[in-house]
Amino acid sequence: MQIFRRNRADRAGRERGSTPTSCPELAAIGVDPSADPEPGAQRCCEDCVAMGEHHWAHLRKCLVCGHVSCCDSSPRRHATAHFEATGHPVMRSAEPGESWRWCYIHEAMG
Ligand SMILES: [Zn+2]
Ligand SMILES: [Zn+2]
Ligand SMILES: [Zn+2]
Repeated sequence: MQIFRRNRADRAGRERGSTPTSCPELAAIGVDPSADPEPGAQRCCEDCVAMGEHHWAHLRKCLVCGHVSCCDSSPRRHATAHFEATGHPVMRSAEPGESWRWCYIHEAMG
């Protein structure tokens, strides 16, 4: 009976695979997205502006340092470049109405 129970629990855990419980970065930030700092009034990618680029798709905000940069659908992909340059692993969407977070290390959304 106990073995049967444990198997059921294992299967349930696997089926919840979309929940990034194995990501310590997202866990450390907390479970409440509304507790994150608001994207704020910044509506441009700092790095694009600095290099004279005026086209980007969506904005992402680093939850380590607050750096706002553009997503992987943008020509310059500065959010990924920021992770590679700084090692800051977690960002959130800086789009209005969006509050999801992303860990680059585990490629987990939370
Ligand atoms: Zn992680
Ligand atoms: Zn950019
Ligand atoms: Zn950062």
